[in-house]
Amino acid sequence: MAADFHTHRPKSEAAALVSVPPEQVAAYPCVSLECHPWSLPGTDGGIPTEFEAALAGAAALGEIGLDRHRGPSLEMQRRYLDRLLELAERYQKPAVFHCVHAVPELLAATRGFRPHKLFHGFRGRPELLTELLRHDFFVSFMPDALERPDLAAFVKRRGLRRLGFETDDTAETIECVLARAARQLELEPEQLIRATDDNFREFLNHG
Ligand SMILES: [Zn+2]
Repeated sequence: MAADFHTHRPKSEAAALVSVPPEQVAAYPCVSLECHPWSLPGTDGGIPTEFEAALAGAAALGEIGLDRHRGPSLEMQRRYLDRLLELAERYQKPAVFHCVHAVPELLAATRGFRPHKLFHGFRGRPELLTELLRHDFFVSFMPDALERPDLAAFVKRRGLRRLGFETDDTAETIECVLARAARQLELEPEQLIRATDDNFREFLNHG
């Protein structure tokens, strides 16, 4: 089955990890509980107990993370991130990360974090992808990521282990995204669907 690694609502029959706030944690079969860096308060109020209770019923935590250009100061974001990572450890939940211009800070914050980590919305240089993979991240590509010829060439060479695709807040279905990516990678769509679905289930510990 096609797998959408990160979206905010289901768009097809595909398996999807739907990012939701605590009040929607029971709305879909497979959700990640979000605490987006953009919506963090500017002061340190701690994590509400309702959030922790909702996490127990979610497949994953996220999107959480660091954004240098939006939300409160990076230092405040880091404080919340540290607490959220503790929660994910306690409940043994994989985590989905939003990260804008703060990769060194993200790598520092997640050092020693044991559950699976997914870097979502990737469309960067192959060097950055290599670094994330070296730090044991799973990586989910933005729908148009492989329009970067250097990235497409790199993935063709390296293979698909720990990689996937997402629709995020676009209108396209993951089936369309995967069909296009398969052409860019010169694969049969079925091969790409199978490989990324295996990675999706591995990320969620659904072996
Ligand atoms: Zn998103």
